[in-house]
Amino acid sequence: MGTTHTLVTRLAGTLEDCLLVASPVERITTAGERVTVETSKHAIDARYVIVTASPTHRSTIEFTPALPERHYGLSRSWRLGALSKAFVAYDRPFWRDEGLSGEGMSDDETVFLTFDVSPHADGPGILMVFCDGRGFDAYDKDERRRRVMRHLIHLYGAPARHAIDYTDFSWGNDSFAPGGPNPAVGPKTWTTFGPFLREPVGRVHWAGSETADETSGSMNGAILSGRRAATEVAARLDAGQ
Ligand SMILES: Cc1cc2nc3c(=O)[nH]c(=O)nc-3n(C[C@H](O)[C@H](O)[C@H](O)COP(=O)(O)OP(=O)(O)OC[C@H]3O[C@@H](n4cnc5c(N)ncnc54)[C@H](O)[C@@H]3O)c2cc1C
Repeated sequence: MGTTHTLVTRLAGTLEDCLLVASPVERITTAGERVTVETSKHAIDARYVIVTASPTHRSTIEFTPALPERHYGLSRSWRLGALSKAFVAYDRPFWRDEGLSGEGMSDDETVFLTFDVSPHADGPGILMVFCDGRGFDAYDKDERRRRVMRHLIHLYGAPARHAIDYTDFSWGNDSFAPGGPNPAVGPKTWTTFGPFLREPVGRVHWAGSETADETSGSMNGAILSGRRAATEVAARLDAGQ
């Protein structure tokens, strides 16, 4: 049991000193049977590399030799979706007093979906709010909050005014994971570029939720894709490649 943070910190714990954070990969160079991964401060030499950046971010890395053109086509066309998120906290989940579930849906607002994610019936009461990033991400924090609160008051009445805390994140403005969760690919993109989501290029393998066979676009998809890519590389290592 635990949160997303628990999952990440436990995984990080198993990696100990092998983990580098805040170190964007700038170059991946394959020469013979070795691959070098470079950041602005580090160069790591390996036999294989698994890249987990989303398809749209693969092309921000300089590959030598260059990736086949179809892989750049994939990167250009596999844009992430547009979903952002806010959390609004109250003393207690007051909407339950009226028999409301806390689930609300709207198709005419930047705020379009709410869920009750309160940890306990006696408080705090927390509403998780999905927001359409195409509008939401362009507003400053005050305006985002104003819009979220306006919509919660519309859905849950005057008690919704009395929030004790608010936080949100505009995923569309994040440099390394803009948008999500699922890519919104255009017509023919899947049939044209889909086959290259997972096709290894030499010693470079690909993982990440978008490459998953099932539950793509979710945390589970990310984990399944990591297992699949690790199995691919392990098979090549076992084969003495
Ligand atoms: C608003 C929102 C709500 C969501 N809600 C849910 C939910 O309720 N349940 C669920 O299962 N999933 C949810 N998802 C989706 C889930 O977060 C993703 O599917 C999951 O995080 C994908 O994991 P990943 O490892 O494939 O990619 P990411 O988590 O995007 O990780 C890729 C990493 O690569 C890094 N990176 C990119 N380029 C470079 C580079 N050049 N060098 C080094 N690192 C780089 C990025 O910084 C990032 O940390 C949600 C997503 C969003 C945006």
